[in-house]
Amino acid sequence: MRMDKLLANMGFGTRKDVKKLMKSGSVHVNGAVIKEGKTHIDPDKDLVTVFGEEVKYKPHIYLMLNKPQGVISATEDQEHETVIDLLLYEHAMYEPFPVGRLDKDTEGFLLITNDGQFSHALMSPRKHVPKTYAATVRGKVTEEDVELFKQGVTLDDGYVTKPAELVIKNHGTVSEIELTITEGKYHQVKRMFEAVGKKVLTLKRLKIADLELDPKLELGTYRELTQKEIDLLL
Ligand code: URA
Repeated sequence: MRMDKLLANMGFGTRKDVKKLMKSGSVHVNGAVIKEGKTHIDPDKDLVTVFGEEVKYKPHIYLMLNKPQGVISATEDQEHETVIDLLLYEHAMYEPFPVGRLDKDTEGFLLITNDGQFSHALMSPRKHVPKTYAATVRGKVTEEDVELFKQGVTLDDGYVTKPAELVIKNHGTVSEIELTITEGKYHQVKRMFEAVGKKVLTLKRLKIADLELDPKLELGTYRELTQKEIDLLL
């Protein structure tokens, strides 16, 4: 890979900025100053430093965010804060995007990446990737609802949902439930409860495939996934 491309990709500015940086003698490869942007290096083998600090090249990033309410699952918005606005520059510079969407008032586990293939693999309707949500619901959620969700309920547009697993944690005038669905229709969880005459009051995503939201992540914070965790998702 060309040295100037690597540095530009890593957020050291435009090709012009990178050229200036290299001319200044601040870029070393395996201990030797490199001034020519067109020099080819192997990012897996060569040790690159800028101002003496090691620069580790990686083409993709994979982040787990605990999304707070009030933030939208988009890369840009004129009015609202987006999930990308929550990222530090060192992550935002990879130009990542959210994998799917959570509603503005939904909290919890959102993946953010710049890897289109990874995103596609998780989002493809053919993959049926399970996602688990915790919700509080106005009204008493019953065993009958559990059965209905297992069979599939008809949404307001006539769509019949795929079998979903509903677990009642606590049922009172406000019920606490967990629901696992394997598809991602617009407002799906809220509309499934509407189909059985109930209203979702709060919604939080807990799990995607076999990966759970890290309980140590405060709302609005995030961390990089480990390779093991990335493998759990694919
Ligand atoms: N279902 C919903 O209704 N909203 C979400 O944000 C996610 C799933």
